[in-house]
Amino acid sequence: MKKLRSDLFESLHDDIVICILCKLSSTASSPSDFISVLHTCKRMNKLGLHPLVLSKSCSETLAIRAKNWCEEAHRFLKLCVNSGNTEANYILGMIRFYCLQNRTSGASLMAKAAVRSHAPALYSLALIQFNGSGGLKNDKDLRAGFALCARSAFLGHVNAIRELGHCLQDGYGVRKNLTEGRRLLVQANAREVASVLPILENKLFNENKLFNVYEFNFNRINEHIHPVNRFMVEWFGLREKGLSGQGLRMCSYKECGRPETRRNEFRRCSGCGKVNYCSRGCQAHDWRVHHKVECAPIEVWMGHTVDDVEEEDNMNGDDRFVGDRTVGIVDGEVVGIDM
Ligand SMILES: [Zn+2]
Ligand SMILES: [Zn+2]
Repeated sequence: MKKLRSDLFESLHDDIVICILCKLSSTASSPSDFISVLHTCKRMNKLGLHPLVLSKSCSETLAIRAKNWCEEAHRFLKLCVNSGNTEANYILGMIRFYCLQNRTSGASLMAKAAVRSHAPALYSLALIQFNGSGGLKNDKDLRAGFALCARSAFLGHVNAIRELGHCLQDGYGVRKNLTEGRRLLVQANAREVASVLPILENKLFNENKLFNVYEFNFNRINEHIHPVNRFMVEWFGLREKGLSGQGLRMCSYKECGRPETRRNEFRRCSGCGKVNYCSRGCQAHDWRVHHKVECAPIEVWMGHTVDDVEEEDNMNGDDRFVGDRTVGIVDGEVVGIDM
């Protein structure tokens, strides 16, 4: 029987096997689902590394764990990049930019993904421009950040829609437009709620117990974390001392994984002064999930400002928090408040 199965498999034409492997690499739920097939025999190894198969690999197939990072893993991602895999461009770009601190190569890989309309790559490049990551504070390019963010938002990236809303509300990298800014923030919230509706539906109709919607854990809104963010959280979790030794901090939203690339790069919550964020998206998520109950009492946070620490250091350039507006949080949303 074993012999017969083996013969049947060997009689399959290469094109059919490649087609099956394409399906596997585009739907695998972890790298091991795919890699273990490559180890079965020489033929599978050869066909599994066919450019057509690698170009189809989905983000979960490429979701290498930080603790397993090695030269082979790096080589596998490079092979996927060379096969034209956009997701691999983004993942390896982020890893090189933040983890391996190869800023030029990392940004260039992300740019290649961005050119192919990869929304997370466009959003990540926008944050790099907004924060001047990998350079000095004066390297911030607000207009470029806004343009990248707008393209990502157009593709439906919720964090980009939220960031864009704040840019318009604050006149950050673009002419101020409060109405349009508010509209985008409402849209970002609506999209997030819509993303948990299937989970709510499942609970309401499929679980044999009474379910109180008000007790539903809306932390699950953020359930789908991109594998590269998981990678960075794990990577810097293993190297936290090295980072803090250089005076650098992680984004306080625990699912983000972005570290500062220079001191005081991220803005901090001045309600408590204890947390700092790479972006408004991370601030809004963290507020809803954790920080709301950890920050200063309600009387204080209703009117507190969100500082840019570099502003306090009296450095030039950032007009985001300068002027007659301050930033507060209402219903978990960061909003502008006229002074
Ligand atoms: Zn962040
Ligand atoms: Zn706070």
